[in-house]
Amino acid sequence: PLEVTGSENVCLPPPLAGANVMNVIVVAAECAPWSKTGGLGDVAGSLPKALARRGHRVMVVAPRYGNYAEPQDIGVRKRYKVDGQDIEVTYFQTYIDGVDFVFIESHLFRHIEGDIYGGSRLDILKRMMLFCKAAVEVPWYVPCGGVCYGDGNLVFIANDWHTALLPVYLKAYYRDNGLMEFTRSILVIHNIAHQGRGPVDDFLHVDLPGHYIDLFKLHDPVGGEHFNIFAAGLKAADRVVTVSHGYSWELKTSEGGWGLHNIIKENDWKFSGIVNGIDTKEWNPLFDVHLTSDDVPLIGFIGRLDQQKGVDLIAEAVPWMMDQDVQLVMLGTGRQDLEKMLRQFENQYHDKIRGWVGFSVKMAHRITAGSDILLMPSRFEPCGLNQLYAMMYGTVPVVHAVGGLRDTETVYGLTENTRTVGRGSKDEGWLRISAGIMRLRNTRKYSSLPSTSGECLSLWLDRFAENKAGSRVDLSCANKFPCTYLS
Ligand code: ADP
Repeated sequence: PLEVTGSENVCLPPPLAGANVMNVIVVAAECAPWSKTGGLGDVAGSLPKALARRGHRVMVVAPRYGNYAEPQDIGVRKRYKVDGQDIEVTYFQTYIDGVDFVFIESHLFRHIEGDIYGGSRLDILKRMMLFCKAAVEVPWYVPCGGVCYGDGNLVFIANDWHTALLPVYLKAYYRDNGLMEFTRSILVIHNIAHQGRGPVDDFLHVDLPGHYIDLFKLHDPVGGEHFNIFAAGLKAADRVVTVSHGYSWELKTSEGGWGLHNIIKENDWKFSGIVNGIDTKEWNPLFDVHLTSDDVPLIGFIGRLDQQKGVDLIAEAVPWMMDQDVQLVMLGTGRQDLEKMLRQFENQYHDKIRGWVGFSVKMAHRITAGSDILLMPSRFEPCGLNQLYAMMYGTVPVVHAVGGLRDTETVYGLTENTRTVGRGSKDEGWLRISAGIMRLRNTRKYSSLPSTSGECLSLWLDRFAENKAGSRVDLSCANKFPCTYLS
């Protein structure tokens, strides 16, 4: 087995000591490798380990959607009221890489492993209520290293609307009653597009004192007057963080804030954008167990098939791409029409396109490593992880300059490791060209299509062909690249 050495220490400041060491409880609806639909799962699985390496005492709390191998029943059973019913939960736990991973077991979370956000609005609301109620009690009931965290120097990190009730419960059940005085809550916005919206009457389900309704009520042109869980969490949390500086700016615009921009602006004093990190143990070509590679430029796409990810923009460029000496591989699940489209592409251009409908971590690693170019034409992208993974593997992300994609285009991550992939097209010159990260700058609003996507790709691929033929290219060549920045 391969062992990663050294990478943990790269760029890390010295470990913390004394009063700066905190008890941190990360609470998320998904946590890789046990459950993941997107970047939230990755971050919930990897950020806690980085925090622990910094010297904090760290725990992650997630629902137990299936029978996971490592976490064990620790024999703690509790009952929580959800919509008038007492629901029993059991706490499971495992300790990995310095982090306690705690899973909450309940019949509400079972049998939804394949679709963790599935079910009716009320089903989902009940699951998230139960999860937040059970998570806020974790510091009292779940011993880690033999001792419960209690409330000393404690911070909860809640993530997205699913856990936005946690800062509210912390306030209503504890802080308003003079309890958990030294506990703080942070709410992280990974994606504002999902907010936990419902009719105002949903407030009757969430089990809070009447005056709390004001936190949840929101009026916007899309939903009219409605109940909004994200809104309440943003107001109740002590700090709000989002996953890139670019997205923190976009969230304050009427287009990027999806109805919550005014609340975010009013709370600007406690709001900041910090770009996500990545797990360089899992996503590292030196140690990647999922890899195996033709000397033809391979273009990849990995992601949820929906409006956000701009799959239709790629589709627009497919007829042109198929006239070039390239291959395209797309991996994703989501909207049925887009899934159908992927299959159709594969049928139509079976020698050049692979349209893989499904969710496969192994395939995602192999596409990231094997592709020369990774397409991310997202209309909005809070942070985006695939471009970071791609850069780690010397694969050029071709992105829209939005959100976190804008932030991270300067983080090349082209390390010694990428050289070991050893593919013809990934020679020294190619690596250097990769450093001239190209972005498809959308000069209009994000909602409008960049009609130039085909042209940009055309330019890029012309260059690719030239440089491939001319083999080694030195760094000065990157400057001659007209498509490094297109405006
Ligand atoms: P988002 O969180 O908006 O979905 P990110 O780029 O932040 O986007 O994170 C996406 C994560 O989900 C990455 O780890 C990516 O590899 C993974 N992913 C997305 N779709 C698939 C799929 N069909 N199969 C495997 N992994 C996928």
